[in-house]
Amino acid sequence: MRRIRKKNTKPEMAVRRLAHRMGYRYRLHRRDLPGTPDIVFPRLRKAIFVHGCFWHQHACPLGAKKPSANPDYWLPKLARNVERDAEARAKLAAMGWEVLVIWECETRAPARLPPLLKSFLGSPPAARS
Ligand SMILES: [Zn+2]
Repeated sequence: MRRIRKKNTKPEMAVRRLAHRMGYRYRLHRRDLPGTPDIVFPRLRKAIFVHGCFWHQHACPLGAKKPSANPDYWLPKLARNVERDAEARAKLAAMGWEVLVIWECETRAPARLPPLLKSFLGSPPAARS
């Protein structure tokens, strides 16, 4: 099963840099976890996927873009991505992991990210006394 998803994409790096700056410590691309989450917080048992809106078919203008060439090839592939994402989230939940999906379009509105991370991860260790 070939994977389309790239590692270390720009949106992913933006989230990683921010999480690090906020004091969260994490691991990357844990292959032993379903779906290989992009950013993993083992102690919190929480994982983040940073999804490209097009490849993972977000309900936003970026995700609504349709491939112009070879739709017969791409559309089933994109649908399969969405299915695989749902499977990975379900498996992680069954293993007791909490999962957050951050979309590419959300990383383009940087003011929204810190509150998103905080509400998912709790106060960063750096902020605790
Ligand atoms: Zn989006």
